[in-house]
Amino acid sequence: MLDWLGKMLHLPESFIAGTHGHGGGVIQGTASEATLISLLAARCKAIRRLLATDPKTSESEILSKLVAYTSDQAHSSVERAGLIGAVVMRKVPTDEHYSVREEMLRKMVEEDKAAGLIPFYFCATLGTTPSCAFDRIMELGPLCNKENMWMHIDAAYAGSAFICPEFRPLLNGIEYADSFNFNPHKWLLVNFDCSAMWVKKRTDIIGAFKMEPLYLKHENQESGSVRLIFHQIKTN
Ligand SMILES: *Cc1c(COP(=O)(O)O)cnc(C)c1O
Repeated sequence: MLDWLGKMLHLPESFIAGTHGHGGGVIQGTASEATLISLLAARCKAIRRLLATDPKTSESEILSKLVAYTSDQAHSSVERAGLIGAVVMRKVPTDEHYSVREEMLRKMVEEDKAAGLIPFYFCATLGTTPSCAFDRIMELGPLCNKENMWMHIDAAYAGSAFICPEFRPLLNGIEYADSFNFNPHKWLLVNFDCSAMWVKKRTDIIGAFKMEPLYLKHENQESGSVRLIFHQIKTN
């Protein structure tokens, strides 16, 4: 179903599960949860990467140095994701259109790296809650990719508009993002908590939250389980 909805938004192929894709969608209760999930997955990914490159460091040392960023116009749930995820969430100042621009984020990232900190996550907003401002993801995306920072895009309420071809260009730059969400429970009038979230590499999320207790063992738990279950539903 999320492939169907993702195609409606013309998401890049990398976000579509299909039969062989590495991406895919998952419904979250709220945009707040989608942002939190993306931050926790990014945190896990950064910690694993840094532990692998520097065996002398420790998980708690890395955690104490991680820095996340978002616009000073972002929804309060983004700041709260930082609180729950126990990482610093720095607010990037915006321009006269309330948009975050590349140079503003780059300046903060450079400052923090010089202070020995580890930038790992940026939450961009497409359609801010106060004024429907759009962060410049076309220029922010390459910076995040270069700096190994996870870019999440929160398009909670404006995202539904990208289904209209005339508004789809506003989503250009999503190809640089690691995750994206919008709320069908806003402009699509789904009367139930429903935030549609997509990731480029679903193993980032599955891997971050994987638990395998004995009492939940089942035959579909090998990696790729999501797709296996999907096939089973189809063939049944
Ligand atoms: C509404 C909104 C949220 C929060 O959405 P919930 O689904 O209530 O968590 C987050 N970000 C933006 C930009 C919003 O407009």
